[in-house]
Amino acid sequence: MEKTKKKKVIKTLLKIFIPIIAVLVALAIGLQIAGFGALFGQYDPQSSKKYPQVIEDYGIWDNSLDQAIPQTALYKIVMDHFNSPLPEGKTAKKVLFMGFDGYRADALKPIMEDPDSAIMYIKSQGGLYHTYSGGISGECEQPTSTAPSWCSMLTGGWKALHGVENNGFEKNDAETFLTTLAKQGHAGSFTISWREHLGLTYRPDVALAIREGLPIEYKYCVDDSDTYYQVLKYLAHPAGKEKTAQEDPDVVFFTFEFTDHNGHLYGFGNNNNYTQGALDANFFGKKILDTIEARSTYAKEDWLIIITSDHGGTGHAHGGQSQMERQTWLATNKKLEITDEYLNFDNSKK
Ligand SMILES: [Zn+2]
Repeated sequence: MEKTKKKKVIKTLLKIFIPIIAVLVALAIGLQIAGFGALFGQYDPQSSKKYPQVIEDYGIWDNSLDQAIPQTALYKIVMDHFNSPLPEGKTAKKVLFMGFDGYRADALKPIMEDPDSAIMYIKSQGGLYHTYSGGISGECEQPTSTAPSWCSMLTGGWKALHGVENNGFEKNDAETFLTTLAKQGHAGSFTISWREHLGLTYRPDVALAIREGLPIEYKYCVDDSDTYYQVLKYLAHPAGKEKTAQEDPDVVFFTFEFTDHNGHLYGFGNNNNYTQGALDANFFGKKILDTIEARSTYAKEDWLIIITSDHGGTGHAHGGQSQMERQTWLATNKKLEITDEYLNFDNSKK
């Protein structure tokens, strides 16, 4: 073929394909904005319902969507537990805070019929509640990203309180419940496998604990298996085994990355890999709950158990303000009474 002919053919092909690609991209963006998740992995691809309604219609919730609790209130739930009197026959307050990173709300569907999943097991003792990430529009919005979201739960405020505006930020000296409770004599542990938590965000907290001799162990694990064994070590208490306060902390905080990891790799939503991440988190989470119930000291302990996520996701990412990213959930073994105090909780306003 002559050079000029070749050029002509290429030009004609480009003329045909560029408009087709443009139309497809526009259609995809349009559907996404309209909240139709079929192309982006909702569990009900036939449905024309908007995402929040799809989640609401699972019928597993103990609050309504318009009573969704800000993730900042997690701080209050933990502190209220320690500030309330010990129930009859109990001698110690304990909390397990189990974080499933990037576990989108529609990934509750594959486990909602399974009473042995960690989330549904805990819901059966207390409740499952709508929560939200990402701050408050027009007031104090923050990215639906890992660092600001967990920090909001740990400190009880949005970025105005803790200063973690996004991933890649070091927190300020706003106290986490781990630090506050350690100052009151409760040993704590913080176990994660996302390097940035200890490499950057919580650096001031680790230094503070070292300087002041606070009983908090900050532990970096290489992956979820490593995290799992470390948390088992904290929680197991066989009969006759003596453990120090630090080996047997009152406050156990950790995160599993199964879902976030698979969401970034394969997409958040209805694909086998993402669903497998949700199943793995629940499977290992339930083993951890079994370990608590098998403690030789369990009968005398008052446990608050929380399982929650930091954000959802859309496509292969998160950080934005779409409902798929903002909408989160909380399972707890203690029933919550949803008061205005919970719905408006923000430590930065105190
Ligand atoms: Zn995350």
